[in-house]
Amino acid sequence: MKKLSALGVSALAVAGVAGLTQSEAAKRSAQIAKSFAPFAPGVKTRADESKFYVESDGMPEHELMSGIVAWQQQVALPQNYAGTNAWSIPLFPKPAVNPLSAKDHFFRGAIAIAANGVPIFNPIKNDGRTDTLIAGELDKFGGHSGRGDDYHYHIAPLHLQAKLGNDLPVAYALDGYAIFGYLCSGGSTPKDLDSFNGHTTKDRGYHYHASKTYPYLNGGFHGEVVEAGGQVDPQPFAQPVRPALPPLRGAKVTTFRRLGEKSWSLGYELNGKTHFVNYSLMSDGNYRFEFVSPDGSKMVETYRPGQRRPGGGPGGGRRGGGGGEERAFFATNHEFFDANHNHEISLHEVDQQIRSVFANTGQLSGAIGRFAASHAASFDFDKSGKIDLQEALDGFRAALHHADLNHDHSLSGAEWKQ
Ligand SMILES: [Zn+2]
Ligand SMILES: [Zn+2]
Repeated sequence: MKKLSALGVSALAVAGVAGLTQSEAAKRSAQIAKSFAPFAPGVKTRADESKFYVESDGMPEHELMSGIVAWQQQVALPQNYAGTNAWSIPLFPKPAVNPLSAKDHFFRGAIAIAANGVPIFNPIKNDGRTDTLIAGELDKFGGHSGRGDDYHYHIAPLHLQAKLGNDLPVAYALDGYAIFGYLCSGGSTPKDLDSFNGHTTKDRGYHYHASKTYPYLNGGFHGEVVEAGGQVDPQPFAQPVRPALPPLRGAKVTTFRRLGEKSWSLGYELNGKTHFVNYSLMSDGNYRFEFVSPDGSKMVETYRPGQRRPGGGPGGGRRGGGGGEERAFFATNHEFFDANHNHEISLHEVDQQIRSVFANTGQLSGAIGRFAASHAASFDFDKSGKIDLQEALDGFRAALHHADLNHDHSLSGAEWKQ
């Protein structure tokens, strides 16, 4: 079926859906659309005879990421939740014969879609144990970005009630049932909630409620969903443009600013000093990341969507062959470079460690210095006989790239042992 217009109602009437179903589908779709309409035009909706679709770029209007104290170095990038990659929920939810709990299912992907087009994931993250809110992983709106720099919530987005009020759902679970705030019809306290935070009332039928403690929103699916690969299927996919990074221990995200329509700045504090990640979507479709250190020095990386790393396709490029000497060097010195001890040396870690060496002593020394000195051709660019900070950064970044077998922009224990 071709794409239908914003609210799906008038278009549905001409879509050739049979009699009664047509009007019921149109009525139901108009009802669901009420929650999403206040967030147009950023959020678009449409419907066919059985499903309601939500399109968005997943970037809400509010401040993002600020307040996170357990940060995995992601930022929030616009996603393409549109067309065949739109969110979809059943127009007419059906109670499941065996309702599935989110306590032991659906640790991957979204379980609901918020009225502002932002997906909502299981409050328990994919290790099956960690409560993301309690762990400090969420910003003050209950969201953060995943490994693909895809922003999502993990609790009910009650801040949306500023636009929606108490009587409209703040989200829809992917089984098609609505998720309301803390209060039921007429401002009453919801009664007899089941283990999924749901109950049935005369005017609303079955629906879920938000709660201040776990499960925070639908704690599973009262309705039918298809589970595949640990997630509700089908659902849209995020498109990562850069490799996932390890957690940055001790960092706190403090600021988020929109520098332009497609340009953002995230600030974080580490050891009492402020760093920034400034990033933008450029007119050529590439993403430019600028990592600004407290001393004002910058490191720039550019990513092309679909490649996930600078200068090579996924799994492509160098395999075996070169880089053995560099891998041996990183294997010997992995304790120095792997600052967060996750058995992975990221480009960012290399950068930070080299900077800290220069901050402390003003020059390279020890095994690190010997490696650079014995590779003077690739370190001492200006042939001054000395290796300055910029030369050291460039040289060790290049060494990491040479050592990196799978071109994922970081060196794993498995790689440096080869
Ligand atoms: Zn998450
Ligand atoms: Zn209720």
